Amino acid sequence: MIPFLNLGNVNARHRDEIVSAMIRVLDSGWYILGNEVRAFEKKFADYCGVSHAIGVANGLDALTLIFKAYMELGLMSEGDEVIVPANTYIASMLAVSANRLIPVPVEPHPDTFNIDIKQIEESISPRTKAIMVVHLYGQIGYSDELQKLADKYGLKVIEDSAQAHGALSQGKRAGSLGDASGFSFYPGKNLGALGDGGAVTTNDAELAHTIRALGNYGSKVKYENLFKGANSRLDELQAAILSVKIQYLDHDNQRRRVIAKQYLESICNPKLNLPKSISPESHVWHLFVVRTEQRDVFQQHLKDKAIGTVIHYPVPPHKQQAYGEWNVRSYPVTEEIHRTVLSLPIDPSMSDDEVRAVIDACNCY
Ligand SMILES: *Cc1c(COP(=O)(O)O)cnc(C)c1O
Repeated sequence: MIPFLNLGNVNARHRDEIVSAMIRVLDSGWYILGNEVRAFEKKFADYCGVSHAIGVANGLDALTLIFKAYMELGLMSEGDEVIVPANTYIASMLAVSANRLIPVPVEPHPDTFNIDIKQIEESISPRTKAIMVVHLYGQIGYSDELQKLADKYGLKVIEDSAQAHGALSQGKRAGSLGDASGFSFYPGKNLGALGDGGAVTTNDAELAHTIRALGNYGSKVKYENLFKGANSRLDELQAAILSVKIQYLDHDNQRRRVIAKQYLESICNPKLNLPKSISPESHVWHLFVVRTEQRDVFQQHLKDKAIGTVIHYPVPPHKQQAYGEWNVRSYPVTEEIHRTVLSLPIDPSMSDDEVRAVIDACNCY
Protein backbone atom coordinates (compact mmCIF):
# COMPACT_ATOMS: atom_id res chain seq x y z
CA MET A 1 0.00 0.00 0.00
CA ILE A 2 1.31 3.45 -0.92
CA PRO A 3 -0.67 5.93 1.18
CA PHE A 4 -1.29 9.42 -0.18
CA LEU A 5 0.81 10.85 2.63
CA ASN A 6 2.48 8.81 5.37
CA LEU A 7 2.79 11.41 8.11
CA GLY A 8 3.96 8.85 10.65
CA ASN A 9 6.92 8.07 8.39
CA VAL A 10 7.60 11.72 7.67
CA ASN A 11 7.95 12.50 11.37
CA ALA A 12 9.59 9.22 12.39
CA ARG A 13 12.72 10.30 10.46
CA HIS A 14 13.25 12.94 13.19
CA ARG A 15 11.83 11.01 16.12
CA ASP A 16 14.71 11.47 18.56
CA GLU A 17 15.04 15.19 17.95
CA ILE A 18 11.28 15.74 18.19
CA VAL A 19 11.03 13.73 21.43
CA SER A 20 13.85 15.68 23.06
CA ALA A 21 12.24 18.98 21.98
CA MET A 22 8.95 17.85 23.55
CA ILE A 23 10.65 16.82 26.77
CA ARG A 24 12.47 20.17 26.90
CA VAL A 25 9.11 21.98 26.78
CA LEU A 26 7.53 19.59 29.30
CA ASP A 27 10.33 20.13 31.79
CA SER A 28 10.51 23.90 31.25
CA GLY A 29 7.16 24.48 32.99
CA TRP A 30 6.40 27.26 30.42
CA TYR A 31 3.85 26.42 27.72
CA ILE A 32 2.50 29.63 26.15
CA LEU A 33 4.48 32.52 24.58
CA GLY A 34 7.99 31.80 25.76
CA ASN A 35 11.46 31.09 24.44
CA GLU A 36 10.40 28.35 22.03
CA VAL A 37 7.93 30.55 20.16
CA ARG A 38 10.39 33.44 20.14
CA ALA A 39 13.20 31.21 18.81
CA PHE A 40 11.04 29.66 16.10
CA GLU A 41 9.68 33.04 15.00
CA LYS A 42 13.25 34.26 14.57
CA LYS A 43 14.23 31.15 12.59
CA PHE A 44 11.17 31.36 10.38
CA ALA A 45 11.58 35.10 9.71
CA ASP A 46 15.23 34.54 8.76
CA TYR A 47 14.30 31.59 6.58
CA CYS A 48 11.66 33.60 4.69
CA GLY A 49 13.86 36.67 4.52
CA VAL A 50 11.57 39.06 6.39
CA SER A 51 11.96 41.16 9.52
CA HIS A 52 8.88 39.82 11.36
CA ALA A 53 7.24 36.44 11.89
CA ILE A 54 4.35 36.12 14.34
CA GLY A 55 3.26 32.67 15.48
CA VAL A 56 -0.51 32.15 15.54
CA ALA A 57 -2.89 29.24 16.13
CA ASN A 58 -3.39 28.11 12.51
CA GLY A 59 -3.22 29.19 8.88
CA LEU A 60 -6.77 30.51 8.71
CA ASP A 61 -6.09 32.76 11.72
CA ALA A 62 -2.85 33.98 10.12
CA LEU A 63 -4.78 35.25 7.08
CA THR A 64 -7.75 36.49 9.12
CA LEU A 65 -5.52 38.50 11.46
CA ILE A 66 -3.73 40.20 8.55
CA PHE A 67 -7.03 41.68 7.35
CA LYS A 68 -8.19 42.42 10.89
CA ALA A 69 -4.98 44.37 11.48
CA TYR A 70 -5.40 46.39 8.30
CA MET A 71 -8.90 47.27 9.49
CA GLU A 72 -7.66 48.30 12.94
CA LEU A 73 -5.02 50.44 11.23
CA GLY A 74 -7.75 52.14 9.19
CA LEU A 75 -6.50 50.87 5.81
CA MET A 76 -9.54 48.68 5.11
CA SER A 77 -13.15 48.85 6.24
CA GLU A 78 -16.28 46.72 6.19
CA GLY A 79 -17.53 46.08 2.66
CA ASP A 80 -14.14 46.60 0.98
CA GLU A 81 -13.20 44.01 -1.62
CA VAL A 82 -10.33 41.55 -1.89
CA ILE A 83 -9.45 39.73 -5.13
CA VAL A 84 -8.97 35.97 -4.57
CA PRO A 85 -8.42 33.06 -6.95
CA ALA A 86 -11.75 31.27 -7.54
CA ASN A 87 -10.17 27.80 -7.22
CA THR A 88 -8.40 28.31 -3.91
CA TYR A 89 -8.94 26.28 -0.78
CA ILE A 90 -11.93 27.91 0.92
CA ALA A 91 -9.87 29.09 3.92
CA SER A 92 -8.43 31.92 1.79
CA MET A 93 -11.93 33.31 1.30
CA LEU A 94 -13.11 32.64 4.85
CA ALA A 95 -10.30 34.89 6.12
CA VAL A 96 -11.71 37.74 4.04
CA SER A 97 -15.37 37.07 4.88
CA ALA A 98 -14.61 36.76 8.61
CA ASN A 99 -13.67 40.45 8.59
CA ARG A 100 -16.85 41.46 6.73
CA LEU A 101 -14.73 42.19 3.68
CA ILE A 102 -15.93 40.83 0.34
CA PRO A 103 -13.94 38.19 -1.52
CA VAL A 104 -14.06 38.71 -5.30
CA PRO A 105 -13.18 35.45 -7.09
CA VAL A 106 -11.05 35.59 -10.24
CA GLU A 107 -10.41 32.61 -12.51
CA PRO A 108 -7.06 30.77 -12.42
CA HIS A 109 -4.86 29.93 -15.39
CA PRO A 110 -5.42 26.22 -16.18
CA ASP A 111 -1.68 25.56 -16.71
CA THR A 112 -0.48 26.77 -13.30
CA PHE A 113 -3.73 26.62 -11.26
CA ASN A 114 -2.74 30.10 -10.00
CA ILE A 115 -4.72 33.33 -10.44
CA ASP A 116 -4.89 34.51 -14.05
CA ILE A 117 -3.26 37.92 -13.92
CA LYS A 118 -4.90 38.94 -17.21
CA GLN A 119 -8.33 38.61 -15.59
CA ILE A 120 -7.66 40.58 -12.41
CA GLU A 121 -8.02 44.12 -13.73
CA GLU A 122 -11.64 43.76 -14.86
CA SER A 123 -12.59 42.72 -11.31
CA ILE A 124 -11.00 45.74 -9.61
CA SER A 125 -13.56 48.27 -8.32
CA PRO A 126 -13.24 51.49 -6.31
CA ARG A 127 -13.68 49.35 -3.17
CA THR A 128 -10.89 46.89 -3.97
CA LYS A 129 -8.18 47.07 -1.31
CA ALA A 130 -6.05 43.96 -1.83
CA ILE A 131 -5.15 41.03 -4.01
CA MET A 132 -4.73 37.71 -2.22
CA VAL A 133 -2.24 35.62 -4.13
CA VAL A 134 -2.42 31.93 -3.21
CA HIS A 135 0.66 29.88 -4.09
CA LEU A 136 -1.58 26.92 -4.82
CA TYR A 137 -0.24 23.36 -4.69
CA GLY A 138 3.19 24.86 -3.78
CA GLN A 139 3.86 27.00 -6.85
CA ILE A 140 4.54 30.74 -6.61
CA GLY A 141 1.56 32.73 -7.88
CA TYR A 142 3.25 36.11 -7.45
CA SER A 143 4.97 37.99 -10.29
CA ASP A 144 6.29 41.45 -11.17
CA GLU A 145 3.25 41.86 -13.40
CA LEU A 146 0.94 41.22 -10.45
CA GLN A 147 2.86 43.69 -8.27
CA LYS A 148 2.66 46.34 -11.02
CA LEU A 149 -1.08 45.91 -11.17
CA ALA A 150 -1.34 46.20 -7.38
CA ASP A 151 0.82 49.34 -7.41
CA LYS A 152 -1.24 50.88 -10.21
CA TYR A 153 -4.41 50.65 -8.09
CA GLY A 154 -2.78 51.09 -4.66
CA LEU A 155 -3.67 47.57 -3.52
CA LYS A 156 -2.03 45.46 -0.81
CA VAL A 157 -0.69 42.09 -1.90
CA ILE A 158 -1.45 39.39 0.66
CA GLU A 159 0.13 35.98 0.12
CA ASP A 160 -1.56 32.76 1.17
CA SER A 161 1.62 30.70 1.54
CA ALA A 162 -0.01 27.80 3.38
CA GLN A 163 1.12 25.36 0.66
CA ALA A 164 4.41 26.98 -0.34
CA HIS A 165 6.94 27.10 2.52
CA GLY A 166 10.33 27.61 0.88
CA ALA A 167 9.20 28.29 -2.70
CA LEU A 168 11.32 30.95 -4.42
CA SER A 169 10.54 33.80 -6.77
CA GLN A 170 13.66 35.46 -8.21
CA GLY A 171 15.64 34.45 -5.13
CA LYS A 172 12.99 35.62 -2.65
CA ARG A 173 10.93 33.19 -0.65
CA ALA A 174 7.17 32.85 -0.41
CA GLY A 175 6.23 34.98 2.57
CA SER A 176 8.54 37.85 1.57
CA LEU A 177 6.94 38.80 -1.75
CA GLY A 178 3.79 40.72 -0.83
CA ASP A 179 2.91 43.12 2.01
CA ALA A 180 2.10 40.25 4.38
CA SER A 181 1.75 36.50 4.19
CA GLY A 182 -0.10 33.78 6.06
CA PHE A 183 1.40 30.34 6.64
CA SER A 184 -0.14 27.14 8.02
CA PHE A 185 1.78 24.46 9.91
CA TYR A 186 -1.07 21.94 9.71
CA PRO A 187 0.59 18.49 9.93
CA GLY A 188 0.30 17.72 6.21
CA LYS A 189 1.87 20.97 4.96
CA ASN A 190 5.48 21.08 3.70
CA LEU A 191 6.46 22.41 7.12
CA GLY A 192 4.03 20.71 9.48
CA ALA A 193 3.64 20.62 13.26
CA LEU A 194 2.08 17.78 15.28
CA GLY A 195 -1.14 19.73 15.57
CA ASP A 196 -2.36 23.14 14.47
CA GLY A 197 -0.08 26.13 14.00
CA GLY A 198 0.43 29.12 11.74
CA ALA A 199 2.42 32.30 11.23
CA VAL A 200 2.25 35.71 9.62
CA THR A 201 5.36 37.08 7.94
CA THR A 202 5.86 40.72 6.96
CA ASN A 203 8.41 43.53 6.73
CA ASP A 204 5.83 46.03 8.01
CA ALA A 205 6.65 46.66 11.69
CA GLU A 206 3.38 48.42 12.52
CA LEU A 207 1.34 45.62 10.96
CA ALA A 208 3.43 43.02 12.81
CA HIS A 209 2.91 44.68 16.18
CA THR A 210 -0.82 45.01 15.55
CA ILE A 211 -1.15 41.33 14.59
CA ARG A 212 0.86 40.29 17.63
CA ALA A 213 -1.50 42.23 19.87
CA LEU A 214 -4.64 41.03 18.05
CA GLY A 215 -3.65 37.39 18.56
CA ASN A 216 -3.19 37.99 22.27
CA TYR A 217 -6.57 39.50 23.29
CA GLY A 218 -5.66 42.80 21.64
CA SER A 219 -2.97 43.40 24.21
CA LYS A 220 0.70 44.36 23.93
CA VAL A 221 1.21 44.83 27.65
CA LYS A 222 -0.56 42.37 29.93
CA TYR A 223 -4.03 43.60 31.00
CA GLU A 224 -3.88 46.65 28.72
CA ASN A 225 -6.23 46.02 25.79
CA LEU A 226 -5.82 48.18 22.70
CA PHE A 227 -8.12 46.17 20.45
CA LYS A 228 -11.00 43.71 20.67
CA GLY A 229 -8.60 40.90 19.97
CA ALA A 230 -8.64 37.13 19.74
CA ASN A 231 -6.71 34.30 21.33
CA SER A 232 -4.59 32.92 18.51
CA ARG A 233 -1.12 31.82 19.57
CA LEU A 234 1.38 29.20 18.50
CA ASP A 235 2.02 26.77 21.38
CA GLU A 236 5.51 26.42 22.84
CA LEU A 237 5.28 22.68 22.15
CA GLN A 238 4.50 23.14 18.45
CA ALA A 239 7.15 25.85 18.13
CA ALA A 240 9.79 23.50 19.57
CA ILE A 241 8.78 20.76 17.11
CA LEU A 242 8.78 23.22 14.21
CA SER A 243 12.30 24.37 15.16
CA VAL A 244 13.40 20.76 14.61
CA LYS A 245 11.51 20.30 11.39
CA ILE A 246 12.48 23.57 9.72
CA GLN A 247 16.06 22.25 9.51
CA TYR A 248 14.82 19.62 7.06
CA LEU A 249 12.43 21.76 5.02
CA ASP A 250 14.81 22.47 2.13
CA HIS A 251 15.87 18.82 2.03
CA ASP A 252 12.24 17.65 1.91
CA ASN A 253 11.32 20.21 -0.73
CA GLN A 254 14.27 19.01 -2.81
CA ARG A 255 13.06 15.43 -2.48
CA ARG A 256 9.59 16.54 -3.59
CA ARG A 257 11.18 18.19 -6.64
CA VAL A 258 13.04 14.99 -7.53
CA ILE A 259 9.83 12.95 -7.28
CA ALA A 260 7.94 15.54 -9.37
CA LYS A 261 10.69 15.45 -12.00
CA GLN A 262 10.46 11.66 -12.19
CA TYR A 263 6.68 11.84 -12.54
CA LEU A 264 6.94 14.52 -15.25
CA GLU A 265 9.58 12.59 -17.19
CA SER A 266 8.15 9.10 -16.86
CA ILE A 267 4.37 9.36 -16.76
CA CYS A 268 3.46 9.22 -20.43
CA ASN A 269 -0.22 8.46 -20.65
CA PRO A 270 -2.15 10.64 -23.12
CA LYS A 271 -5.21 10.41 -20.86
CA LEU A 272 -3.37 12.32 -18.12
CA ASN A 273 -2.66 16.03 -18.20
CA LEU A 274 0.45 16.70 -16.09
CA PRO A 275 1.08 19.88 -14.06
CA LYS A 276 3.50 22.57 -15.27
CA SER A 277 6.06 24.43 -13.20
CA ILE A 278 7.29 27.84 -14.34
CA SER A 279 10.78 27.10 -12.92
CA PRO A 280 12.24 24.44 -10.60
CA GLU A 281 12.80 26.75 -7.63
CA SER A 282 9.35 28.36 -7.80
CA HIS A 283 7.58 25.08 -7.00
CA VAL A 284 7.82 23.08 -3.76
CA TRP A 285 5.25 20.48 -4.89
CA HIS A 286 2.99 20.47 -1.85
CA LEU A 287 0.72 18.57 -4.22
CA PHE A 288 1.27 16.87 -7.57
CA VAL A 289 -2.03 17.42 -9.32
CA VAL A 290 -2.91 15.73 -12.60
CA ARG A 291 -6.05 16.29 -14.62
CA THR A 292 -8.03 13.63 -16.43
CA GLU A 293 -11.48 13.41 -18.00
CA GLN A 294 -12.60 10.30 -16.12
CA ARG A 295 -11.13 11.27 -12.81
CA ASP A 296 -13.18 8.93 -10.63
CA VAL A 297 -12.35 5.92 -12.82
CA PHE A 298 -8.65 6.81 -12.68
CA GLN A 299 -8.81 7.20 -8.89
CA GLN A 300 -10.41 3.75 -8.59
CA HIS A 301 -7.72 2.29 -10.89
CA LEU A 302 -4.99 3.60 -8.57
CA LYS A 303 -6.90 2.39 -5.54
CA ASP A 304 -7.00 -1.10 -7.06
CA LYS A 305 -3.20 -0.83 -7.36
CA ALA A 306 -3.07 0.12 -3.65
CA ILE A 307 -2.11 3.75 -4.32
CA GLY A 308 -3.77 6.47 -2.26
CA THR A 309 -4.88 9.71 -3.92
CA VAL A 310 -6.88 12.78 -2.85
CA ILE A 311 -8.97 15.33 -4.78
CA HIS A 312 -7.88 18.94 -4.14
CA TYR A 313 -10.62 20.02 -4.20
CA PRO A 314 -13.91 18.33 -5.13
CA VAL A 315 -16.15 21.42 -4.84
CA PRO A 316 -15.07 25.03 -5.52
CA PRO A 317 -15.90 27.71 -2.93
CA HIS A 318 -18.56 29.33 -5.15
CA LYS A 319 -20.50 26.04 -5.26
CA GLN A 320 -20.42 25.54 -1.48
CA GLN A 321 -23.50 26.05 0.67
CA ALA A 322 -21.41 28.43 2.80
CA TYR A 323 -21.26 30.80 -0.19
CA GLY A 324 -24.85 30.22 -1.25
CA GLU A 325 -25.05 33.77 -2.59
CA TRP A 326 -22.53 32.72 -5.28
CA ASN A 327 -24.02 29.34 -6.23
CA VAL A 328 -25.60 30.66 -9.43
CA ARG A 329 -22.36 32.19 -10.68
CA SER A 330 -20.21 30.49 -13.26
CA TYR A 331 -16.42 30.15 -13.20
CA PRO A 332 -15.84 27.67 -16.04
CA VAL A 333 -12.05 27.26 -15.66
CA THR A 334 -12.43 26.67 -11.93
CA GLU A 335 -15.29 24.22 -12.42
CA GLU A 336 -13.31 22.31 -15.04
CA ILE A 337 -10.36 22.06 -12.63
CA HIS A 338 -12.52 20.75 -9.79
CA ARG A 339 -14.14 18.21 -12.11
CA THR A 340 -10.85 16.74 -13.38
CA VAL A 341 -8.09 17.04 -10.75
CA LEU A 342 -6.47 14.25 -8.76
CA SER A 343 -3.41 14.50 -6.49
CA LEU A 344 -0.82 11.70 -6.65
CA PRO A 345 1.32 10.80 -3.63
CA ILE A 346 4.36 13.12 -3.34
CA ASP A 347 5.50 12.38 0.18
CA PRO A 348 9.16 13.28 0.85
CA SER A 349 9.56 9.98 2.72
CA MET A 350 8.52 7.86 -0.31
CA SER A 351 11.07 5.35 -1.57
CA ASP A 352 12.27 5.22 -5.18
CA ASP A 353 10.42 1.91 -5.59
CA GLU A 354 7.18 3.55 -4.47
CA VAL A 355 7.68 6.41 -6.94
CA ARG A 356 8.27 3.82 -9.67
CA ALA A 357 5.09 1.95 -8.68
CA VAL A 358 3.02 5.15 -8.98
CA ILE A 359 4.50 5.84 -12.42
CA ASP A 360 3.80 2.29 -13.60
CA ALA A 361 0.23 2.43 -12.33
CA CYS A 362 -0.35 5.74 -14.13
CA ASN A 363 1.06 4.35 -17.37
CA CYS A 364 -1.09 1.24 -17.38
CA TYR A 365 -4.39 3.10 -16.94
C1 LIG B 1 -4.13 24.72 4.76
C2 LIG B 1 -4.53 25.97 4.09
C3 LIG B 1 -5.06 27.06 4.78
C4 LIG B 1 -5.50 27.00 6.22
O1 LIG B 1 -4.55 26.56 7.13
P1 LIG B 1 -5.04 25.89 8.53
O2 LIG B 1 -3.80 25.84 9.32
O3 LIG B 1 -5.60 24.56 8.19
O4 LIG B 1 -6.04 26.82 9.11
C5 LIG B 1 -5.27 28.23 4.09
N1 LIG B 1 -5.03 28.33 2.77
C6 LIG B 1 -4.57 27.29 2.06
C7 LIG B 1 -4.30 27.47 0.61
C8 LIG B 1 -4.30 26.07 2.69
O5 LIG B 1 -3.85 25.04 1.97
